[in-house]
Amino acid sequence: MSEVGLLAYTGKKFSVGNFQAMFKNPFFYGVMLSSGELYEGKHEPIISKRLFDEVQAVMERKSKPKTPTLKPYLYRGLFRCGECGCLITTETQKGHNYLRCTKRVTACTQKYVREEAITAQVDRTIAKVVLEAAIADQMVAELEQERTAAATSQQAAVTKLKADLAACDKQADLLLDMRLSEQIGETEYVSKKHTLVNRKAEIRGKLEAFETNRLNRFEPAIRFVLEAKHGANLLAEGNPEHKRDFLKKTGSNFFVAGQSLTVTFRTHWQLVADFNSVPTSSAAHAAKNGEGSRGV
Ligand SMILES: [Zn+2]
Repeated sequence: MSEVGLLAYTGKKFSVGNFQAMFKNPFFYGVMLSSGELYEGKHEPIISKRLFDEVQAVMERKSKPKTPTLKPYLYRGLFRCGECGCLITTETQKGHNYLRCTKRVTACTQKYVREEAITAQVDRTIAKVVLEAAIADQMVAELEQERTAAATSQQAAVTKLKADLAACDKQADLLLDMRLSEQIGETEYVSKKHTLVNRKAEIRGKLEAFETNRLNRFEPAIRFVLEAKHGANLLAEGNPEHKRDFLKKTGSNFFVAGQSLTVTFRTHWQLVADFNSVPTSSAAHAAKNGEGSRGV
C-alpha cells in the first residue's frame, strides 16, 4: 500500500508508524496468522472459566427447582464480581434490571448496578476494538496483496522443486542403465542411488511443507480485520445481544465492581485497542478538548 495514501487516510488519527507497528508485530504476522485459531488463545484459561460459569449456572438453576423458566437476562453468567469473584446475577426491580454480586463465598460490599449502565460501558468497550472502515479496508487490501505475492512466489518455488524431482528420476534411470550395462560397479551404483534417494526425500519434504503451509494463513487475519470493522455496525445497529456476543469474542475475565465493567481483551484485540489508543498530536489535542474521542 502506498504510504502517501495511508497518510492521507490516517493523518488525522493514526500515524503511518503505529499502523506499521501493528502490522509488523510478530504476533499479528506469526502466531495469529499461522494458528488459524483466532478467538481461543491457548494461554487463556477460557475452558476452566467457562466450565466454572456453567457449573455456577447449573447450581443456580438447581437452587430454584420450581422456577418455570429462567428470565433471558442479557448478561446471564457473563460477569463476575471484581471484589469477591462470585458470579454477577440480574434481577428485575420495579421494571428495571439490576446486576448484583451473588455474594456466595465471602462478605462483599458491592452494590447493585443498573443494567443500562453496564450496557453503556459495553458499548465503550467495544468501541475500543473497532477498526475504522477506511483503516480496515486498507489492511485487507494489504493482506490480499501479500497473499497474491506469496501465491506467486510459492508457485515458482513449487515448479522448481517439481523440476528437481523429475531430474532426480531421470538420473536414477540413467544410473540404472549404467549399472545394467556394467559401466559402473555395484558399490558406486548403491552409493549414487543412495544420494539420489536422499535428495528426492528432501525435495518431497519441501513440497509437503508448501502443501501444509498453504496460503490460508492470510484468511484468519482478513477475517479478523473484517470482524473488527464490523464492530462499528454492531454499535450502530444497537442490538444488545449482538453486542454482548461481540464483547465475549473480544475478551475474557469480565468483572463488575464499583459499577464499572473491566475486560481483558484477547491478545489480537488488545493490539487493536493499543493501535486505536495511540493518538497523533492532533488527535491528542482533540481529545483534550473533548472532541473526536470515541466516548471512552
Ligand atoms: Zn462480590
